[in-house]
Parts: sequence; C-alpha cells; structure tokens
Amino acid sequence: MKKKTCPWLDSNIRGGIQILNNRIYPCCGPSKPFYNDENLDYSKISIEELIEKRKELQEKINEGTACQGCEQIIEKEEEDINIGPITYLSIGLFSTCNLRCKYCYFTDDELSQKLKPERTHLLPFIKRLSKHGFMKKDFSIGLAGGEPTLFEDLPETFKFISDNYEKSSMVLLSNSSITSRTQKIIDVLKDTNENFDKGLYTSIDAGTKETYKLIRGRDLYTEVKKNIINYAKNNSFNRITLKYILMFDHSNTSNKDIFGFLFFFKEVMKNQKGTMAMTIDCDMLSHEPFDDEMIAAAGKLYYVARDIFGIEVAFCGGGLVNSTSKGQERIKLLQNYAKNYKTAKKPLIEKFYLFLLGYSSVLNNINRLFKLYKRTIKLIKILYFQQIN
Ligand code: SF4
Ligand code: SF4
Repeated sequence: MKKKTCPWLDSNIRGGIQILNNRIYPCCGPSKPFYNDENLDYSKISIEELIEKRKELQEKINEGTACQGCEQIIEKEEEDINIGPITYLSIGLFSTCNLRCKYCYFTDDELSQKLKPERTHLLPFIKRLSKHGFMKKDFSIGLAGGEPTLFEDLPETFKFISDNYEKSSMVLLSNSSITSRTQKIIDVLKDTNENFDKGLYTSIDAGTKETYKLIRGRDLYTEVKKNIINYAKNNSFNRITLKYILMFDHSNTSNKDIFGFLFFFKEVMKNQKGTMAMTIDCDMLSHEPFDDEMIAAAGKLYYVARDIFGIEVAFCGGGLVNSTSKGQERIKLLQNYAKNYKTAKKPLIEKFYLFLLGYSSVLNNINRLFKLYKRTIKLIKILYFQQIN
C-alpha cells in the first residue's frame, strides 16, 4: 500500500532534522517545531521522544492533519519507508555573534545575547543521538549561527563524528574571524579520518580593511584573511567557498574592493589543496534596484571566477538566487555583463589587475600539475617496488 512521506522524514531517502536556537524542527520547510521551549537544554532532550515525534508526524501527514500543501510530500510503498535514523542535522543554535554586519537579519540585541550555558555545548547532544543509533553512517552536519565557532566544543564534535561515522561530512558557515577558535579547529581537523568531508563557507564582502569594518562592523579583515589562509595551508577543508555580498549603497562595489577581494581569493587558491568556489550575492534586506554599478561589480566577480580561476560560482542565500524570478533576472544581467567584459574597453589599471590575476592563476595551475606529476611518480615507484619484491 502506498503512503505519503518526505525526504526529511524517510531515512531511505535522506532523513534529517533542523535545530534553530530553542526550537527543533522536522525539516527546514514550513513545518511546526517538535520543540519550542525557551529553556530547552540539549543535553536533556529525550531522543526516544524525538524519534516518536517524527513517526507521529508521518502518521499525521497521511491523515491529512499536518504539512498540508508541502511540495516535498511524495508517495511510496509503505515497506520502502523508514522513519528512522538521520543523515542530516542542520544547526543554527543561536543568533549571538562577534560581528555586526549591515545586512544581518538579527537585531543588535539578538547578536549581543549571552549564550545560554545549556546550549554552548554540542557534543553531549551528538553523543546521545549516536548512542540511540539515530545517525546514519553517511551522517552530515551543517552549522550556522550567529557564529558557530562560539560553540565551546565544536572541534571535539567534529572529531567525534569523524571517528565514529566513516562516510561523514560537515559544512561550517563561519565568519572565520575568531583566531583562537579557528586555530583549535585547524588542530583537530588535521587529525580527522581522511574520508571525513569538510566544507567551509565564509562571507568576505570587501577588498579593503576599511570596507570590511564598514560592512561587518568590526576591524577584523586582516584576521579573517590570515585565518582563511591558515585553513588552506593546513589543508583543513576539502572545499572552501568564499562569498561576496554586494551592498546596494555601493559601499563595496568599487574596483578597489572587487579586485582586492579577487587578489585575496587567488592567495587562498594558491594555498588550498582541495577545491574552491565563489558565491556572489546581494543584500536581501534592501529593495533598491540592481543598478549598473551592482551589475558591473557582480559581472567582474563572475568573469574572473569562471574565465580566469576556472571555478564554480554558486548563487544562493539572499537577493541573487535561482529560486526567485527577481534573482534569475539579476543573474542573467550579471552573466551578460561578464560575457561582454572580456572584449570590452577597460581602463589600464583594470587590464593590469586582470593580467596579474591571469598570470598567477597560470602559475598556480603549473604548480598543481607539477605536484600531481611528483605524486604520480612516487606512486609508480611504490607499485614497481611492490611488484619486484
Ligand atoms: S512534509 Fe514538508 S513540511 Fe512536513 S516535515 Fe516534510 S518537508 Fe517538512
Ligand atoms: S557574521 Fe552572520 S550572524 Fe554575524 S552579524 Fe554577520 S551576518 Fe549576522
């Protein structure tokens, strides 16, 4: 008999939950939370109850009393459905943050809130999920905030997941500005299982110290750059994505900022063994038109990322997303700009910047090829000696 389910509930598809501060949701969709308690203490949540609540929700969907109209609902044979362990846990436990970004949707009051002691530690909760067999082998954790490196035991949590789940992965959305925390993460990630897939996602939004301070509210540009380069040098992440959120007041659309960011991006690429990607976005709180200056800034970022660095550009987050018609329109405009930019007449300084970025990108690729060649020779030698011994 066929029954209704969805990818968030059915472990045979994926299975997941989302935690946002004092609320635990069955998904990141329009569902009601399982828990909504100001004093929620993660170390005390009954995992049996959580498992039961997921099963009850599945029943309610089939009775037509929950999740009506959700586009993720599908029908499957009953025996193919398993409301069991989860593959994905998304956590945005709090709004507290050390920065004060102009585009942030949290208020200053929320960002300044002291972390509740019962919600500063993640590891006890993860261990209890694990003890109840609630996490699948290919378990994946996504962390956002506020600033998630403020979790006291984040590095230990990564280590626990990597040690106990052989195909696990994590994505960390962090501002990368707290040096003491990034150093601890570097130290622990050096020691994780080699199959543990690690992704970092950091918004930069500036190419100068002054602009960073103006947009992010703290003078931490130099720290952020140093921390991300350290992550890259220590091979901490398999994938680093750097984001640029364009501001409609044009405070970060000048060539000085755009090329400043691109030169920093190139520096990270030089040190990063894994992959790199760029996300271009714009302030979603603003309703001003996506004017020529915004299009030019976004188009230049897109052109250099795709044509010179040869990397992926993603559009996700705020005002530049593929999922809305306004976002699609804006993306088309910036892509057209990028297409014409190569042959367009440019000021001498811009030509010089592009030449330098192109030149160092070629050197970088030669360097990578040379390293690959050295690794291949080493591997051939090992195989050869294994055969003759
Ligand atoms: S049916 Fe939709 S709203 Fe309900 S839990 Fe699944 S994804 Fe969430
Ligand atoms: S880093 Fe994120 S959470 Fe912190 S102020 Fe900026 S946008 Fe808000």
